[in-house]
Amino acid sequence: MRVRFAPSPTGYLHIGNARTVLFNYLFARKNRGTFILRIEDTDRERSKTEYIEQIYRDLRWLGIEWDEGPDVGGEYGPYLQSERLSLHKEYVKKLIDNGNAYYCYCTPEELEARREERRVAGAVGGYDGRCRNLSEEAMAEKHAAGILPSVRFKMQEEGELVVDDLIRGEVHFDGALQSDFIIMRPDGTPTFHLAVSVDDGLMRVSHVLRGEDHLSNTPKHIMIMKACGFPVPRYAHMPLTMGPGGEPLSKRFGAMSIREYRQLGYRNEALCNYMALLGWNPGDDREFFPLEELKKVFSVKRISKSPAVFDKAKLDWMAGMHIRALDDNAYIREAVTYLLETGLVSNEDYSGRPEWYAKVLLTLKDYLACYADLKEQLMLFRDEIIGEESDILKTPEAQKVLQVTVRALEEHEYIDENTFDALLKHVKKESKQKGKALFAPLRIALTGKEHGPDLKMIMILLGKKLCKQRLEACIHD
Ligand code: GLU
Repeated sequence: MRVRFAPSPTGYLHIGNARTVLFNYLFARKNRGTFILRIEDTDRERSKTEYIEQIYRDLRWLGIEWDEGPDVGGEYGPYLQSERLSLHKEYVKKLIDNGNAYYCYCTPEELEARREERRVAGAVGGYDGRCRNLSEEAMAEKHAAGILPSVRFKMQEEGELVVDDLIRGEVHFDGALQSDFIIMRPDGTPTFHLAVSVDDGLMRVSHVLRGEDHLSNTPKHIMIMKACGFPVPRYAHMPLTMGPGGEPLSKRFGAMSIREYRQLGYRNEALCNYMALLGWNPGDDREFFPLEELKKVFSVKRISKSPAVFDKAKLDWMAGMHIRALDDNAYIREAVTYLLETGLVSNEDYSGRPEWYAKVLLTLKDYLACYADLKEQLMLFRDEIIGEESDILKTPEAQKVLQVTVRALEEHEYIDENTFDALLKHVKKESKQKGKALFAPLRIALTGKEHGPDLKMIMILLGKKLCKQRLEACIHD
């Protein structure tokens, strides 16, 4: 089995197109096949080397490695489409020679005028086939007039074209609606349809897994492949990923690039896990999958026909699970690396109190979707007085809790696990409050928030002095 991911390097990878590569990769690994990366950089205007480099970086970061590709080589290269021009030309010539393609001298103006005529007459269809049977003389005449021809592929005119799709089953296309299409432009460059078909053929691709937006292209690709004498691959068209409003997920609709998720400190496995569940499921209610596990359980049969909807809250929930699944040391290592690399914490500060940071990070472990979330959470521990204005703090009962706690703190030299328990017991008794009425005022005065990490850890990590200052700032005279 040979499968490929064939991105056009005209932008960054985002959740939508990264899911396509993930599914191809998993499909190949599950079946011990070969995974090929082919960069379709034939759009010279929009393709950028920077995007190609970024695709390599993003894929490697995600944990996706390819067996053949531009930077790793392979037997069926070159793997940059722009370097395959002579092969494309060779096959265009072959198609002309074996009667499956022909030169077309119609200019864009002529085509437009005839299209307009047909539209007025109420007829449908694309190209009218005018140059299909031009005589040698007619061609020579056009040539002499300096008109550079394009090359068109001869489509089947009648009957049905069937795509036997691995996800959608048989999809039928009416042959009469398929008009002859251009495979080579007048400037000698191949079109997408030609390039993708010849490359899939020459690279011996056995399975093409791609977005459903390509389904209507597939009859053309099958026809080209047959006419070139290539074995036709199996096709699987995946439903697209939609944004929350039902629009296709794209950069334009706020889809973040893989690079941005990486910069925010999402874990790569969390992204892979989330993307895998966009349109695929294991057949039971399991949702947590490390990448290694996905390679074992993935199957094309379980890709759904209906579109997947991107849900940021679900991604964050899943991302949190992947952080919690790390063992504590690995988690601290990753978090510290992130904090230092992004400058959220200085080397100096960190090396002055690594144990304190380790404790803080463990306290926050359950509250993160990505390491950038630490930014806000760490503010909690800054040497600052909050002085929160909250209605919850205004009641006499809440004020009493704060006052009693301040007094109790004065009795202790520092707060640790043991003194905290004794202190809380004392406050409970003196203030006659318990449960939420006891904890909420303390939490809000100490952190400015109603929810968050364990109060005991917060007080221990803040230390006696800062706790006292923050509580006092919320006591009204
Ligand atoms: N370069 C095409 C794209 O990015 C590839 C399509 C295909 O997978 O065949 O849409």
